[in-house]
Amino acid sequence: MKYEPPKFKTLHEMAFIDVCRLSEPQALHILESIRWPEDPVCPHCKSKNVARIKGKVKSVRDGLHRCYECKQHFTVMVGTIMEDSHITYRQWIQAFHSMCSHKKGVSALQLQRNLGLGSYRTAWHLAHRIRFAMQEGPLAGALKGIVEVDETWVGGKPGRPKKDKKGKVIPNQKGFGPNGTNKTPVVALIERNGRARSGPVEYVCAKTLKGVIRENVDKASTIMTDESKCYKGIGKEFGGGHESVNHSIREYSKGEEIAITTNSAESYFALLKRGVHGTFHHVSKKHLHRYCDEFSFRWSNRKKTDGERTEMAVSGIEGKRVPYKKLGTALKGGEG
Ligand SMILES: [Zn+2]
Repeated sequence: MKYEPPKFKTLHEMAFIDVCRLSEPQALHILESIRWPEDPVCPHCKSKNVARIKGKVKSVRDGLHRCYECKQHFTVMVGTIMEDSHITYRQWIQAFHSMCSHKKGVSALQLQRNLGLGSYRTAWHLAHRIRFAMQEGPLAGALKGIVEVDETWVGGKPGRPKKDKKGKVIPNQKGFGPNGTNKTPVVALIERNGRARSGPVEYVCAKTLKGVIRENVDKASTIMTDESKCYKGIGKEFGGGHESVNHSIREYSKGEEIAITTNSAESYFALLKRGVHGTFHHVSKKHLHRYCDEFSFRWSNRKKTDGERTEMAVSGIEGKRVPYKKLGTALKGGEG
């Protein structure tokens, strides 16, 4: 019997209701056609000399292929973020669609309930794997044009001062002051009308911030920041120079032809914080970079439809495998 793929909408045309109606064979077909647009390739030896093992698709184990070169078996999940997962293909696509369509993210608890998953741990791991798929690949390239750079403090429990080894409060550190917090500094670089890139940094200082800018921004760009001293002198390294607004005197936008402002970066942080406080409640420092990847992904692709974003995220599954151990365990009382 020849294998015939089922006929239905492609993933980028789908709304959530279409995704919910998918059968297991349809979901498998979608994942296979995104991962292997032409012919299936063996993930073990990259050979195309492979064949589908016949039989009905009933469970996760179905969709098996055999490689004639290395004699190994594989499914669409092998060598991707989905490897070793016991979640069905349908649930994977539904989870991808949920996370790509909710502006402020979806909590692991919500995913667990919506998809009928057995445990919080499974849902938490699923969400983190999807965040990993959303991470920009190395080919994404430098940010161009006008790039707004700003930093903020995210997460942590407020009102808990940072102490040194002897238990003495370390004074006068931004975010760690006497009334301070253990929040984590996050830097965002936002292309005006374009992509976003963000992530936690160890310290807010000139060395770190300039390093992040040099690494991520094209040399012909214009950098826009607030009045922070950390950015002083960065203009010399970029063709478009460096412009800044002085937030301390309530100056948020200036310039006539081109607006000098960091409003896009501020909007980005507002969204990220609404996600961290409103959806996830608590995000640990260790995993914060994945949440940043998730919010950057949605921001960069905000002009696309939910289905298009889902298809883009699914196409990021290849070669990114995250075992649970590597992620660590979920913390109690929050997303971790
Ligand atoms: Zn092989």
